[in-house]
Amino acid sequence: MSPTRLTKPFFVLGIAATLLALTSASSAAPRKPNSADANTDSSSNTAQEHLAFTQNGHPQTADGRILIEAADGGILLQTNDGQLYQLDRANIHERAKLDEPFKPLAPQILAERLVSEMPAGFRSYNTPHYVIVYDTSRTYAQWTSSLLERLNKAFTNYWQGQGIELHEPEFPLPILLFATHQEYEQAAREDLPGGTGSIIGFYSLRSNRVNMFDLTGTEALRANGARGSLKEINQILSQPAAEPLVATIVHEATHQISFNNGLQQRYADIPLWLCEGMAVYFEAPDLSSTRGWRGIGRVNYPRLEVFHKHLPDWNDNTLEFILRDATLFHNPRTAFDAYADAWALNYYLIKYQTKNYTEYMKMLAEKPPLVDDTPETHLAEFREHFGDLNKLQQDFLKQMSRVK
Ligand SMILES: [Zn+2]
Repeated sequence: MSPTRLTKPFFVLGIAATLLALTSASSAAPRKPNSADANTDSSSNTAQEHLAFTQNGHPQTADGRILIEAADGGILLQTNDGQLYQLDRANIHERAKLDEPFKPLAPQILAERLVSEMPAGFRSYNTPHYVIVYDTSRTYAQWTSSLLERLNKAFTNYWQGQGIELHEPEFPLPILLFATHQEYEQAAREDLPGGTGSIIGFYSLRSNRVNMFDLTGTEALRANGARGSLKEINQILSQPAAEPLVATIVHEATHQISFNNGLQQRYADIPLWLCEGMAVYFEAPDLSSTRGWRGIGRVNYPRLEVFHKHLPDWNDNTLEFILRDATLFHNPRTAFDAYADAWALNYYLIKYQTKNYTEYMKMLAEKPPLVDDTPETHLAEFREHFGDLNKLQQDFLKQMSRVK
């Protein structure tokens, strides 16, 4: 069964070091719970079509596979670089089946395509999982790729160790690395039309790319020595002042990995308290080792501090309110506390309800794109895995008040 209509997703998961922000594509569409025949194992979907359509007022053509087709004719198209296009029927002018099967681009071809989309001066650097397109120094691109490969391995091993079946990313993971904040700002226009503000890196669900800039050029860190060699870059970014900046990169990269290894599906209705809190759980950077990745599940002290400060605001219904929908994340006045609460909740559930959390993650991994659940469904699914909310909230607050 197809969904009757596709809901509007959030396009960008962006987080700033001090102020947190999420941008949504539009106000929430009325929700229609539907079972969809969305192909949750999209890698087996190789039928390809040629489409002509209008998006943002521009006529375009693209070849790709159809991930979802709604009863009203709206479709979700994926091109071979991994990008998603959500198209209303009225904007689709032509559809034709292609004989050639859909196949993700090889890393080198993707790299060439990305370089050609960028202004002059960009190069690419490929590693087993990443295509890094940069106009920073080559050493900075190498430093970044080493960080990301180590994270990728540790993060994937962690969830596989919990018994979740994951797969290698179907597409090479694109990272855009800008030498200056100004270039980064310019390139972010499509995803963040209101500007990047204090968002220093983001993962775009639409493009599947992480955008970031050379953190060693950040004003607060710049005074601290040369930034040429791998060792110098590591020194600069190991300072305490750099930790929240590097944590942001790790956070965004965690989103990208999750949405490419089968842990979560892009545009699926993954509760934000889970999606964001889990990314925060993993965001503590490890710059001390060149191979491993220590610190997964370490207490996140900046978040703990915010959580403790904000504890007096909790009442009997707070947990239910967090679980119902994403209201707290979307309101700039409550977003900062919402991230801290989300971290605390994920920390508690991963530590004290490990098995239930894993089962809950497995259930979320099956959620198809662009089918939204009601607040009642969110609550029912949570209760199914973790039991009575009042009891859980009491235990959660008791345990978290002891975390020092
Ligand atoms: Zn995030």
